[in-house]
Amino acid sequence: MTRSVEIALPPREAHDPKLVREAAAEACGVGTGTILGSRVLKRSIDARSRSPLVRLRVEVSTEHAFIEEVLERPAHRDVSHATPVIIIGCGPAGMFAALKCIEIGLKPIILERGKDVRARRRDLALIGREHLIDPDSNYCFGEGGAGTYSDGKLYTRSDKRGDVDQVLRTLMAFGAPADILVDAHPHIGTNKLPGIVTAMREAIITAGGEVRFATRVIDLMIPDNAIRGVRTANGDEVLASNVILATGHSARDIFELLHAKKIRIESKPFALGVRIEHPQEVIDRIRYHCDVRDPYLPPASYMAVQQVEGRGVYSFCMCPGGIIAPCATAPGEVVTNGWSPSKRDNPFANSGIVVECALTPGPSPKEMGEMPDPLIGVRYQQKVEQAAWRAGGERQSAPAQRMEDFIAARMSNDLPTCSYPPGIVPHMLDDVLPKEIAMRLRGGLIAFGEKMRGYRTNEAVLVAVESRTSSPVRVPRDPLTMQHPGVQGLYPCGEGAGYAGGIVSAAMDGMRVADAVKVASGA
Ligand SMILES: Cc1cc2nc3c(=O)[nH]c(=O)nc-3n(C[C@H](O)[C@H](O)[C@H](O)COP(=O)(O)OP(=O)(O)OC[C@H]3O[C@@H](n4cnc5c(N)ncnc54)[C@H](O)[C@@H]3O)c2cc1C
Repeated sequence: MTRSVEIALPPREAHDPKLVREAAAEACGVGTGTILGSRVLKRSIDARSRSPLVRLRVEVSTEHAFIEEVLERPAHRDVSHATPVIIIGCGPAGMFAALKCIEIGLKPIILERGKDVRARRRDLALIGREHLIDPDSNYCFGEGGAGTYSDGKLYTRSDKRGDVDQVLRTLMAFGAPADILVDAHPHIGTNKLPGIVTAMREAIITAGGEVRFATRVIDLMIPDNAIRGVRTANGDEVLASNVILATGHSARDIFELLHAKKIRIESKPFALGVRIEHPQEVIDRIRYHCDVRDPYLPPASYMAVQQVEGRGVYSFCMCPGGIIAPCATAPGEVVTNGWSPSKRDNPFANSGIVVECALTPGPSPKEMGEMPDPLIGVRYQQKVEQAAWRAGGERQSAPAQRMEDFIAARMSNDLPTCSYPPGIVPHMLDDVLPKEIAMRLRGGLIAFGEKMRGYRTNEAVLVAVESRTSSPVRVPRDPLTMQHPGVQGLYPCGEGAGYAGGIVSAAMDGMRVADAVKVASGA
């Protein structure tokens, strides 16, 4: 007999393989002694009752033991002389597109404006210490893209289970822990991601692909509506008739370039707000109904959503045991996001709290007889990020306000300790955020406080601004060929083009687009 059963155990017992096996045997109605093999297939925390439980799906067999699967790394064929495909951007979309290209016999040439993960780390340290932003090397730009120095959460709303599994298994083959295949809410952590990204790059190069760092693309060569290559800031021309554009949500110069070249782009909704930071123990208390978290439970996270005046207010990219990251990509702006190490063992819990943005501030362009400006969302983001920079003292310090003070619209006299490395300064966030955002944020926080007792506290601090939740622009593509409708051979891809929202979905999109290139090129 080989079958899987659902069991629920207290956290300590769920941690002990012997007790898990016994409980699974009992659930199957067989003696533990008759079981030759058992393995956990899925694991989730159920914190609905006063004593949280760990729910497990366990496969047991009375016929055989389970052999630990060794995952083979993809990309082991030689493509050095194959048809070249230019991939602009070395984020999850670009890297997974490159691996897929190799698998299907195309030669990927990744052009990345930033540096490799090691050199990039030094630039990140400078942001915290010296308040310096390198526009080509920061939390969003560089090897591995925006996901490299993140919490590495690997969940997605996509229901394409096969594709999601393929991404997770590929990450595991390059060094991610096996737990990501089991946990309901898997994450990798900032300390482990750079090693995985490096191993992926090495595999791409070993197979005959190319990865060129410090290579910012500044122009697309498009004679007769078909792409022929790109020009880089180093003065080089790189030629190929298939170009995957995977430059992420912060490559504003690429959006400007497309617009200037009259390549159709569209504005799309996004969300904007603040990052909120609580002591982790406050969130643990709320979620686990306890004074002190059971050491066998992970630091707690939360998800919250509320409609306020016709727009959604929601938590975004929550990082338990994490750090608020300075994510500006140009001098003169302040942008936040968050990351966590694999153990999520910092004393703070941070999360974006953001409001859906309507993109028609001011007179409607239509009323003024003009075409809608596709960059309206970019300009809106920029305006708020620049206001945050001014309010923070024209450095990377971020304007901040205690939670209750923000709700009551009063200045915070002092601020709690905060994880944000460049530091925070007290400021009225109503002066930084657009009125329609601040008003809904207030309403959202009040509602969250009613749903989660203890969430509303002046121990929590709001740090502005969280503005890069997703791309404010969509680069259209044909749903079948995946090519831009106006430019043959140009494949908009990943989060920046509006087809993904997170590491896993960006990776999935990269693979999908590479498949489309194969079909078009007949490789
Ligand atoms: C701090 C932080 C934490 C995050 N945490 C999570 C998380 O826990 N889970 C999750 O799912 N998502 C997280 N995200 C979001 C996630 O990182 C992105 O959704 C994902 O990386 C998008 O992948 P992408 O490949 O489409 O674009 P990106 O990762 O943005 O990659 C685009 C790449 O293109 C390069 N590029 C841009 N312009 C040019 C140019 N002109 N020439 C050459 N190269 C160029 C950039 O340098 C960059 O490396 C986080 C993001 C940040 C910033």
